[in-house]
Amino acid sequence: MGQIDLHSHTIASDGTLTPGELIKLAKKQGLKAIAITDHDTVDGIEEAMAVAEEIGGIEVIPGVEVSADYFGEIHILGYLMDIHDSTLQGRLTKLRKIRNRRNHKMIERFQKRGIDLSLEELESEAKGELIGRPHFASLLIKKGFVESHREAFGKYLGDGSLCYVAKEKVHPKDAIEMIKESGGVAVLAHPVFLKAKTRLKLKSLFTELKEMGLTGIEVYHSDHSWKHRELFLGLANDLDLCVTGGSDYHGSHKPHIDLGLGRGNLSIPYDLLDRLREKQSLSLSA
Ligand code: AMP
Ligand code: ZN
Ligand code: FE
Ligand code: FE
Repeated sequence: MGQIDLHSHTIASDGTLTPGELIKLAKKQGLKAIAITDHDTVDGIEEAMAVAEEIGGIEVIPGVEVSADYFGEIHILGYLMDIHDSTLQGRLTKLRKIRNRRNHKMIERFQKRGIDLSLEELESEAKGELIGRPHFASLLIKKGFVESHREAFGKYLGDGSLCYVAKEKVHPKDAIEMIKESGGVAVLAHPVFLKAKTRLKLKSLFTELKEMGLTGIEVYHSDHSWKHRELFLGLANDLDLCVTGGSDYHGSHKPHIDLGLGRGNLSIPYDLLDRLREKQSLSLSA
């Protein structure tokens, strides 16, 4: 019944397409459904839904991606929440404040090293309301301090590099609760980036997250090799967790990643979305 993509970013966070442009691209790629999962905001979703209604043939799934900390950074995806829920809106505003404080500290670090970046420049780079590390990277390229996003993250922005500052810690339990309380389901994003690498460690982490209310694991992702997919699929099945997948499309901030296709070999079937909806209705009726 067609292909879907459950992980994408727009200019509302650190992607480079507007929500409307993203939906049109999704339709052009032949996708049946696309989830917009911007970092710490659901602001792009209304526009995306309006455009989807106008052009037809493409379904928009409301989503969000939030960062949490549990023995290292982990990302939690939320799907199918009520995006107008005032508690959800309030908690996302709080997450954006945490992000802004982190951004200020990073700007200070750059300035201390003689690399002159200002908040105003980052804001005009970001276009939307939210500034993320990819905007720092693009600005560093524009100002000639580095040549590529890869170099920017390697030298200055990546975890443990010169100007990186971690955000204040959010417990995954709180992130999962925020999503569930607004009617959604929570999914662990791109487990390939977790500190835990062995099957045993991953299994115990997934089990703990399931106890906190996690519904699924992102098994298919642009940065997952076939081996990763097999490992995460096995664990999801063992633990009775839903399986999801998405490209993590960011437009020209990650030019090698295509919507729907990732690095060329993603193909995510629609029925994964049906499973997710089944779990959502079970948890709503519980
Ligand atoms: P932030 O939420 O501002 O901390 O930024 C997170 C974004 O930076 C995510 O979209 C990641 O894809 C991107 N990112 C994190 N680490 C790297 C890296 N090493 N190389 C390229 N992009 C990265
Ligand atoms: Zn991003
Ligand atoms: Fe992520
Ligand atoms: Fe993402």
